[in-house]
Amino acid sequence: MTAFDAYRPDRGRAELVVAERLTREYELGGQTIRAVDELTLRVRRGEMVAVQGRSGSGKTTLLNLLGGLDRPTTGTVRFDGLELTELADDQLTELRRRRIGFIFQSFGLIPILSAAENVEIPLRLVGAEPAARRARIAMLLEMVGLAERARHRPHELSGGEQQRVAIARALANGPELLIADEPTGQLDSQSGRAIMRLVRAVARSEGVTVVVATHDVALVSLSDRVLELRDGRLVSEGQPMSSPPV
Ligand code: ADP
Ligand code: MG
Repeated sequence: MTAFDAYRPDRGRAELVVAERLTREYELGGQTIRAVDELTLRVRRGEMVAVQGRSGSGKTTLLNLLGGLDRPTTGTVRFDGLELTELADDQLTELRRRRIGFIFQSFGLIPILSAAENVEIPLRLVGAEPAARRARIAMLLEMVGLAERARHRPHELSGGEQQRVAIARALANGPELLIADEPTGQLDSQSGRAIMRLVRAVARSEGVTVVVATHDVALVSLSDRVLELRDGRLVSEGQPMSSPPV
C-alpha cells in the first residue's frame, strides 16, 4: 500500500457517478441557453465512457458538472453517493483534489515548470511528504513513458508528450474518476490514438473510471460505452463495437 492508497475511500459502490435530470442553463445577452437538458446518466466504477457529439452539443458542460467544476441549474450529481450540489465550495475543491483527475484539450501545463514539477502540483496541494512525492512522480512518469523527460519543460516536449505529462498529473493523487475533455483535440490522429490507448491502459492498471469527451469517431472504439449528445440531451447509447456506423 502506498501513501496514496490512504486517500482512496472504500471502493464498494458499483455506480461511481449518478446524474439525474441534470440541467445547466447559461444566460447570455438576455437569452437562456440550455447546454445540458434534463440528462440522466450512470457511470459504473471501472468503466470508460466516451461522450460524443459535435461542437456545442454540451460535452464540456456535462463533464464539468460530473467533475464538480460547475454546478447544475437543476438536477443532481452523486459521486460515490455524495450529492455534489450539497457540498460547500471548499468541500467540493477537496473532493476534486483527491478523488477526481482532469485532462483538457490544451494540456494545461505550467510552462515555467518541468514535467516532474507539473506532476508534483496536485501532490503538494494535498500536503504529500517530499519523499512520497518524489516516489510517486517517478512512478507516474515511468507509467506514461516519460521517465527520461522529467526535467524538461513543456515547450521542449511534443504535444503528445505534454498530454502524457498531463495524464500523469491528473493521476497523481490516485483519483477514482478521470475526466478527459477532448484530450486528443490538439493532436494528430496517430498521437491521439496513442493518448487514448494510454488513458485506457493506465485507467485499467490504476482502477480509474474514465469519462472522455471526443468528437473523433475513430477514438470511441477504445471505450466501453458511447453516449451521444445532441443539444444537451442523450440521443443514443451503445457499445462502440456493435453500434452502426454513423
Ligand atoms: P461542447 O463541449 O460539446 O462543444 P459546450 O458544453 O461547450 O459544448 O457548450 C454547449 C452549449 O452551451 C453551446 O451552445 C455553448 O455555446 C453554450 N455555452 C457553453 N459555455 C457557455 C458559457 N459560459 N456561457 C454561455 N453559453 C455557454
Ligand atoms: Mg467542449
